[in-house]
Amino acid sequence: MKFADVPGLAPIKAKLIANVQNERLAHAQLFLGPEGSGKLHLALALTQYLYCTSRSNTDSCGECSSCRKVRTLTHPDIHFTYPTVVKTSGKEPISTDYVQEWRKELLASPFMNTSDWIGKIADSENKSPNITRRETREIVTKLGMKPYEGEAKTLIIWMPEYLAEQSNALLKVIEEPTQKTYFILVAENSDRLLATITSRTQLVKIPKYTETEAQLFLQEKYNLDSKKAEQLAYLSEGNLRKAIDLVESVEDNYSEIFRDWMLACYSNNLKKVMEITEELHKLGRVQLQLFLTNGLAIMRESLLYKTITGYVIKAETDQQDFIKKFSSTLNAAYIETSYEQINEVIYHIQRNANAKVALFNLSLNLRYNFIRK
Ligand SMILES: [Zn+2]
Repeated sequence: MKFADVPGLAPIKAKLIANVQNERLAHAQLFLGPEGSGKLHLALALTQYLYCTSRSNTDSCGECSSCRKVRTLTHPDIHFTYPTVVKTSGKEPISTDYVQEWRKELLASPFMNTSDWIGKIADSENKSPNITRRETREIVTKLGMKPYEGEAKTLIIWMPEYLAEQSNALLKVIEEPTQKTYFILVAENSDRLLATITSRTQLVKIPKYTETEAQLFLQEKYNLDSKKAEQLAYLSEGNLRKAIDLVESVEDNYSEIFRDWMLACYSNNLKKVMEITEELHKLGRVQLQLFLTNGLAIMRESLLYKTITGYVIKAETDQQDFIKKFSSTLNAAYIETSYEQINEVIYHIQRNANAKVALFNLSLNLRYNFIRK
């Protein structure tokens, strides 16, 4: 991974690059950042930069043999340690037991969290992740061997929170590696790190993404329009794992439910309104906000269609028909009122209002807007 492939975080990238160029890179670093931040991406980009044979002042080349090996996670001098679970055979597992799965999952979803990862490798749900003592002994052996290609070895420890209490062998090797070695620990929760580890590493804090960074990421990766990306970025709260989850789980039928809901309000079918409210409530807070935000987009398009002659509706074909009909049933002022009311409910749901009550009241208000048309 090149630095350019890591979303956002320009100041930290610049600092890491400068440290490499000035030969002032700490040999043991702790990349600490919340879930869905770019900490693991940065560890990979930094490693690629360190090993690249024709790096520039701003990035690795991405083309040389080293870059290719780092990118496919197959460089012989770069080792990964990560939490594992005991297989049915019962022997203490080590990271390399799961190396195929690790490469596959890390390449597919670098924003994964521990549960995502354990979900991929555990055969039952209630196995707890662990970095075993056998793994730490294994690390010491591996790092004791001469590098195959370059002059240095690298160990990336993902989620050192799961290191076994007695990791003395590891402490010693971090303190006095027998070869030139870079250690990059990639962690989420500083409270769960062993103090003996943190005291031996230089802390690099990786902040959560800003809304703008998250929005850009969504626009580029999923080709979303800027409005949609902005809404999802807002809901993801700077957590790109959550942002990806939102994009991938947005229900295609939200527009359809919205249509049924509006129709139920319009025809004063309270039983149907109740049913739909019940269904929506089950989606959970985040999806509910997403549903309503989608509804806002429909309202906005209706208003524009109503007020601007020749306006081309930005929506899929079947939705366009609905928007046209919808805008013909209401006057502009009431579309605007409905828009504001939906917006307000989103605001209250974010602040933990009772979603069911809020939705039902909203339905009545929308109904009232229809009557007043
Ligand atoms: Zn290169």
